[in-house]
Amino acid sequence: MLSLQPIFMDNPTLIPDIQMVDLKAQLKALRAEIDHGIQEILDSGAFIKGPPVKAFQKDLSAFLNGAHVTPCANGTDALQIALMALDLKEGDEVITTPFTFVATAEVIELLKLKTVFIDIEPGTFNMDTKQLESLISPKTKVILPVHLFGQCSNMDQIMEVAEKHQLFVVEDNAQSIGSVYQFSDGRKVLSGTIGHIGCTSFYPSKNLGAFGDAGAVFTMNEEFATAIDSIANHGQSERYMYGKIGINSRMDSFQAVVLNAKLKELCRYNQSRQYAAGVYNKELAGIEAIELPVNHPSSSHVYHQYTLRVKDGKRDALKAHLQEKRVPSMIYYPYPLHLQEAYKHLGYQKGDFPVTEQSCHEVLSLPMHSELSDTQLNYICESIKSFFN
Ligand SMILES: *Cc1c(COP(=O)(O)O)cnc(C)c1O
Repeated sequence: MLSLQPIFMDNPTLIPDIQMVDLKAQLKALRAEIDHGIQEILDSGAFIKGPPVKAFQKDLSAFLNGAHVTPCANGTDALQIALMALDLKEGDEVITTPFTFVATAEVIELLKLKTVFIDIEPGTFNMDTKQLESLISPKTKVILPVHLFGQCSNMDQIMEVAEKHQLFVVEDNAQSIGSVYQFSDGRKVLSGTIGHIGCTSFYPSKNLGAFGDAGAVFTMNEEFATAIDSIANHGQSERYMYGKIGINSRMDSFQAVVLNAKLKELCRYNQSRQYAAGVYNKELAGIEAIELPVNHPSSSHVYHQYTLRVKDGKRDALKAHLQEKRVPSMIYYPYPLHLQEAYKHLGYQKGDFPVTEQSCHEVLSLPMHSELSDTQLNYICESIKSFFN
């Protein structure tokens, strides 16, 4: 690619306006449809669980090859509802990674279950499944893989271990909607529909983002579906009859209008992200102090984040350099969960999860969304290269 850096440096007004996530640009094409949908809700007054929510539930179910979909208020609730649907006992153990958004572990602790952390793989940032069996105890009930940054965990191994030890698998699919896992026998399954229950978030910056909070729980299993529907609605079985303790978690109609419009574009959004990742991969290859994200051969990658490892302690300096060039970048995640004050009671120490801890020092996520132009991508790559020259 032609180096545009000198042109931009001579004419700072030409520096492209780059966002980590560009929701405004994405909205442009959908504006008329969304405006119309919002007007309809204002006129009908069906603000909660209205017709747009039912339409979204149906369309998302079709997208997920027939999985039962329970729309809910956010991704954190989705995880909590999923765990509640499994009828676990206090102290039952759930295995997940300490390199994730806090919600994953938070709901385990809120339900008085026990979080058992497992380290991640250095390349994919997902659960290191080689360590799974050594962490299983008589109290283990759930494996909770987080498909981090947009690609599935090693589901061949997770499903095999789960079957062998009769465990549930709950997928945290908040960052990987639309990604596909191919099993070693050739079966291809969409992220979030592989385990017993899948959970997702439609937080605005997610690959499929609402304009406020929203989430969903998926399952292919009818019994779980009934329990999940009920738990998301106060545990109601029939009108004003409560068979279980539930929570109040519902999607509002405005969010469903936005999600319906965007669901039709999700494949294109994910392809645009893959294109941007391809440009990053090509342009940044060969910089010695940078490790590019590794795409697991069994999973497609929908690049919720494009996350580099910056070696030699140069991460923070690179971030500052990019900021000077008006290129935003983010650290997901700066602190591992096992060393957080709130999770001290789990008894983990510094050094317990070395790959996670090292990742917290090295990761840097670059701008990633469906509207990145070649000019923007080129400018970002040139800005990174200029740091190492
Ligand atoms: C966003 C996210 C959540 C939580 O979703 P909310 O809608 O913000 O509650 C959970 N897990 C992961 C991995 C996430 O990225």
